[in-house]
Amino acid sequence: MPRPKKIRCVRFLPQVNYFKPKGIPLMDLEEVVLNVDEFEALNLVDLEDKDQETAANKMGVSRSTFQRILSSARKKVAEAIIQGKALRIKGGNYVMATMRKFECADCGHVWEIPFGTGRPTTCPSCGSTNFHRAAEQRGPGVGRGLGPCGKGKRSR
Ligand SMILES: [Zn+2]
Repeated sequence: MPRPKKIRCVRFLPQVNYFKPKGIPLMDLEEVVLNVDEFEALNLVDLEDKDQETAANKMGVSRSTFQRILSSARKKVAEAIIQGKALRIKGGNYVMATMRKFECADCGHVWEIPFGTGRPTTCPSCGSTNFHRAAEQRGPGVGRGLGPCGKGKRSR
């Protein structure tokens, strides 16, 4: 029996989720489905130039898992372009990364950082270390000790 896939963290959903070659009727097209976690892997490495380790951390997966997601993503995009297929972006095993909010006790500065990036060491505004998690928190997993991006809620 296959192991259940580990949930991946993504920061946002694609704005456009369907690409199709011009001039070919939809009914004649084959479709490639790119999962949202694959989309995020491509985005992190190929567009934002993150190294794979950083990208893997952001998505809350191991390097080897990330490598698999990325190569699958690249292959699907290549397949769509080279073989003239439509590309649909949907599904996959992911949760939306929620943001953590911090508030500086010295200058009152409030800022947010995504889960999975580690706790900040100083206030980005005044450099003070006298800051704390801001009271108003949203999103799954907050305050319940759940994983780097609020694991436990599955989106599809
Ligand atoms: Zn401050």
